[in-house]
Amino acid sequence: MGSGQKRLLILGSGFSSFSLLKTIDAQKFEVIVVSPRNHFLFTPLLPSTTVGTIEFRSVVEPVRQAKRGTIFYEAACTKIDSRRRAVACKGSDSAFTLAYDALVIGVGAGVNTYGIPGVVKHALFLKEVADARAIRQRIIECCERASRPDIDDTERRRLLHFVVVGGGPTGVEFAAEMHDLLREDLSRAYPLLWNDVRITLLEAGSSILTTFDATLSAYTERLFRRQRIEVRTRTPVARLGSDHVTLKNGERVPYGLLVWSTGVVPRLLTKTCSFQKDSLGRIVTDDRLRVVGRHDVYAFGDCATIGDLSLPMTAQVAQQQGHYLGIALNQRASGKEPRPFRYRHYGMLAYIGGNKALADLEKSKTGGFATFLFWRSVYLTRLMGIKNKMLVMFDWFKTLVFGRDISRF
Ligand SMILES: Cc1cc2nc3c(=O)[nH]c(=O)nc-3n(C[C@H](O)[C@H](O)[C@H](O)COP(=O)(O)OP(=O)(O)OC[C@H]3O[C@@H](n4cnc5c(N)ncnc54)[C@H](O)[C@@H]3O)c2cc1C
Repeated sequence: MGSGQKRLLILGSGFSSFSLLKTIDAQKFEVIVVSPRNHFLFTPLLPSTTVGTIEFRSVVEPVRQAKRGTIFYEAACTKIDSRRRAVACKGSDSAFTLAYDALVIGVGAGVNTYGIPGVVKHALFLKEVADARAIRQRIIECCERASRPDIDDTERRRLLHFVVVGGGPTGVEFAAEMHDLLREDLSRAYPLLWNDVRITLLEAGSSILTTFDATLSAYTERLFRRQRIEVRTRTPVARLGSDHVTLKNGERVPYGLLVWSTGVVPRLLTKTCSFQKDSLGRIVTDDRLRVVGRHDVYAFGDCATIGDLSLPMTAQVAQQQGHYLGIALNQRASGKEPRPFRYRHYGMLAYIGGNKALADLEKSKTGGFATFLFWRSVYLTRLMGIKNKMLVMFDWFKTLVFGRDISRF
């Protein structure tokens, strides 16, 4: 910190922190990013990577190449000492401490398992690239095993039962991608298995996609029925075994693959830091994203909330907050007081399979093929880097012409 620049320490490399990094003026601060993930991940297209519609590398961007003149450490922050203005960090094989002048917390949120027995041990999640890779491997593994001659009918049906728990946008999009893979690629690669393949979506509430307009939610349920995706609402899960899920009503449902996607909870760092939290455990900030009671600590994205303004925990919010904070910090460094953060809601989109998507916009609620084209064009423009835009476009073209790659290695 000898250069006279103030040290800005950013925790996380997700939507909020990465947008901040892109916007911040690295001449005005000594910028250090600490995150256990050395890349930014464009999560809205993560479900597409689980089945190979899009390749993993197309939806990530290295943090180190995001902004010249900034420093990155691959480590997790384990403790914030706001009195001493320092954080403790842990890398894969070492621990260190970093001092800061200003701290920005953008550590996102973790998976909510509701403490249901067996979930952590047996379920697959969909949060990081490693999760998507594990799902892709398991799908092909199930199909390969199911096609072997020594497998009996009961075991084959179990292996080919793909279960998704959670009817939010991520669970629905994953079920939709699964359906596309089965219909367009696996049906040709494993023609004898096709009749035994099933996808089931389990939802504890009374409907799926509750954050979307009710007409779009009902439209999706009808479409899923036609696509042989069984939607079971009001079906809470009691516990998970390695090859079956037990429902609250006692029913035992065998599965080959189970993906758990039932919302988020605060991460350990958010839980243990001493700042003020709301009832959901998120760090409370003012409308300029400053942590309440601290003028040198900021928080944004899924780990924070602005007073009692309950914004959704989405990429849209996190990205806008990151962009805002970058501008606000640049202004403060030049002696100007920034205006408060204002969220602009652009609507919600979701892919529902068979080249159909949903758009819940302020002025229209639509679903179908035209919306699918709109969905693709929006996500293409939202991807941060030009390289990623080109890679994703190429992946879509490749899948359309040659189908998805079902090799396992
Ligand atoms: C599969 C999937 C699909 C989604 N689709 C959409 C969508 O279509 N539209 C939409 O608006 N939202 C979507 N979301 C939600 C969206 O991804 C999140 O709301 C958004 O990523 C939140 O941004 P964030 O910066 O708060 O956290 P994140 O993007 O989750 O980033 C958190 C970062 O903090 C890092 N970190 C964690 N712990 C520590 C620590 N102790 N120290 C330092 N760093 C740490 C993580 O490695 C990560 O880099 C989706 C989420 C998922 C999982």
